[in-house]
Amino acid sequence: MNDELICIGCGAVLQDQDPKKSGYLPSSALTKARENEASDVYCQRCFRLRHYNEIMPVEQNNDDFLALLNSLSQQKALVVNVVDLFDFSNSLLSSLKRFVGDNDFILVGNKFDLFPKNTKQSKIKDWMRQEANRVGLYPKDIFLISAAKKLNLPELIDYLNQASKDRDVYFVGTTNVGKSTLINAIIDQMGDIQDLITTSRFPGTTLDKIEIPLDNGHYLVDTPGILSANQLASHLNVKDLDLISPKKPLKPATYQLLPGNTLFLGGLGRIDYLAGPSTSFTVYAARGLYLHRTKTANADAFYEKHVGELLVPPRGDENLPALSGQEFSPDTKSDLLFGGIGFVTVPAGCVVKAYTPDQIGLGIRRALI
Ligand code: GDP
Repeated sequence: MNDELICIGCGAVLQDQDPKKSGYLPSSALTKARENEASDVYCQRCFRLRHYNEIMPVEQNNDDFLALLNSLSQQKALVVNVVDLFDFSNSLLSSLKRFVGDNDFILVGNKFDLFPKNTKQSKIKDWMRQEANRVGLYPKDIFLISAAKKLNLPELIDYLNQASKDRDVYFVGTTNVGKSTLINAIIDQMGDIQDLITTSRFPGTTLDKIEIPLDNGHYLVDTPGILSANQLASHLNVKDLDLISPKKPLKPATYQLLPGNTLFLGGLGRIDYLAGPSTSFTVYAARGLYLHRTKTANADAFYEKHVGELLVPPRGDENLPALSGQEFSPDTKSDLLFGGIGFVTVPAGCVVKAYTPDQIGLGIRRALI
């Protein structure tokens, strides 16, 4: 008996090894399907999509993703890059610029619910546009949304409805930006599409994409999430990821610092205050992150002793790269960025050294708040 079974929804080879990869089916179900020589088996993802209108994320390697992007430039499409506002530089897909071609491209900044209430949307959009331009991307429009809290979704859906009159809409993004949550929210708004769902993939490749048919004959297309080595998320275990992923609007925590002071953001971030007046630094991060102020002279020894215990996350046995730092001396009030963790607002005229594991997600921008 040929034991390679194919999902009739998406055509992926069924497997019971990796729930994140395409074609996954729990062992018991796969064994049963093999025993019955079944020919009408859905993988778990297609099953959920059909029965619960629910998209589950799939990871794919970057070569496959590039192949998918390549096909984009040969057709009329709207390309939607969903980005995580808390890990923006790592979720912006700069590789898109080669593939967007003449197609329209928009940026959707997700997790806006986490910003404090008084945040100016125009400031965030300006910053996103500048960053996109810097890597050669020119978004036609920018939306700030919360997929989970359904914030600003009607505006985005109106836009997509309009745009999809004469083309398909492709959603792209790195993993963990909330692309699945967003597509599920959109499906939810579209009502009952249970029987309409079809899934398909490019013939001759192992590529997955999920096509959600619209009334106007076009499709919303979900593409695999890209795992980026430059995302802290791909170095942390699920528990720690949960701890640093804020669920509620960020509550600023202010620390009065002098040169010679160091502030730890759990075991994942560190700021040394090198020069400037006595001043306050404001941390915007998840509440589960342990913040600790100490003297820079003792900071290395303190870290060695307490990482994984007091300074968490990381907890336990995660194989994180060592902390590595970069100096910044902003001439305007700025946010030091700790991608995936949060940001720290520092005043103009101070000199700091900021650290993350292998400098992942480290950056700076003009203060947003
Ligand atoms: P995907 O890998 O891009 O498909 O991302 P998911 O949809 O699986 O979401 C990744 C994580 O982000 C999950 O922990 C979600 O709960 C969280 N998330 C998604 N959307 C939002 C949002 O609008 N706000 C917040 N705070 N978290 C979100």
